[in-house]
Amino acid sequence: MKNLVIGAGLTGSVTANLIATKWNEKVIVIDKNNFVGGNINDYVDEQTQIHVHRFGPHIFHTNSERVWKYLSQYTDWHEYSFEPNVVIKGQKVTLPFNLNTIKQCFDKQTAEKYTKKLVDTYGMEHKIPILELKQTNDEDLKFIADFVYKYVFEGYTVKQWGLKPEEIDESITARVPIYISYDNRYFQDKYQAIPKNGYAEMIKNMLYHKNIQIYLNTKYQDILKENFDRIFYTGSIDEFFNYKYGMLPYRSLTFDVETIDCEYYQPTAMVNYPCDNDYTRITEHKHFLNEKSSKTIISKEYSHSFELGKNERYYPIKNDANSELYEKYLRDAKQLKNTYFLGRLGAYKYYNMDQAVLAALEFWDTIT
Ligand SMILES: Cc1cc2nc3c(=O)[nH]c(=O)nc-3n(C[C@H](O)[C@H](O)[C@H](O)COP(=O)(O)OP(=O)(O)OC[C@H]3O[C@@H](n4cnc5c(N)ncnc54)[C@H](O)[C@@H]3O)c2cc1C
Repeated sequence: MKNLVIGAGLTGSVTANLIATKWNEKVIVIDKNNFVGGNINDYVDEQTQIHVHRFGPHIFHTNSERVWKYLSQYTDWHEYSFEPNVVIKGQKVTLPFNLNTIKQCFDKQTAEKYTKKLVDTYGMEHKIPILELKQTNDEDLKFIADFVYKYVFEGYTVKQWGLKPEEIDESITARVPIYISYDNRYFQDKYQAIPKNGYAEMIKNMLYHKNIQIYLNTKYQDILKENFDRIFYTGSIDEFFNYKYGMLPYRSLTFDVETIDCEYYQPTAMVNYPCDNDYTRITEHKHFLNEKSSKTIISKEYSHSFELGKNERYYPIKNDANSELYEKYLRDAKQLKNTYFLGRLGAYKYYNMDQAVLAALEFWDTIT
């Protein structure tokens, strides 16, 4: 056996698929989980037949023809445009914060005044960071920026990153834009869709090949590495090196999944709660594939610090100290022959799904 891929997430699955199909070489894929797909795994709930996104809502979106074409070999798609809501002062309103949100948050006259000011100043279909609005001399634009900052971003950031309001670096959070548009879609990419039979099914199709053997419930630590010519590692880079320089920090999440005896719980797949409740958001899963059932399934999402052995790694915490720590591991990684570190955990980076696929495809270009 020549090739070992650690992790049957999106990155590991693209890599194994290319080894099997392009090189026509045998490859073993292992994963510590008892399912494939890593973070993008979904499962069909037995009672309702609804696909549940196990690790939070996943909406595929890309402008990359290459990524779209590659994945489309392994799934048909259900077109889906993501139009979430955010709760402001107890009311569910449109997110991204756009001209419809302004209508929903203010009385008619005030909304018209702010809309006219934004459109006259910047023109339609532009995204303006709230930091930029704050820096103008115009009282109305400043007011809108402060409103969005207070009701949409500050509370969410406090919960999501576990920070106190004074610890939030305004120059980072205030990059978040107001969208001067009536387009309610959260993403504007050319392709926006959900795999018709779910993400796990797409991954299974990518891994279904005579050259690929999969071992689930198997940790990298339990494998005899010397039996392999090449190792493609998509786990956490600090874990690979036994945390010799210290642990890379992450934010983690937990999900409370509930089946509810009503047809729909909320009007859209996701509702954010920046200012109320302990959870950050609620996902209602049946919206993604427009699945019909007299019941529904929701997940309440809570944010925590990552603690080894207690929960999973989700979002890398980017700052200078952590980037320096990652660089130390990367330097050691580069010394190893025929061992490659890939994916969101190998690169200590937040990747959208299309970025993870593109990074894996581009890595492939460099080794062939
Ligand atoms: C809450 C949340 C929501 C998201 N929503 C979106 C979205 O809407 N749209 C979008 O484009 N992207 C979204 N993403 C990003 C998306 O999840 C990632 O791009 C994608 O999962 C990256 O895949 P990966 O294979 O690199 O990592 P992973 O999915 O983490 O795969 C790594 C795999 O390696 C395995 N592994 C790790 N260590 C070991 C070990 N020692 N031994 C054996 N196996 C091991 C893990 O079990 C895992 O299966 C979201 C991410 C999060 C956290």
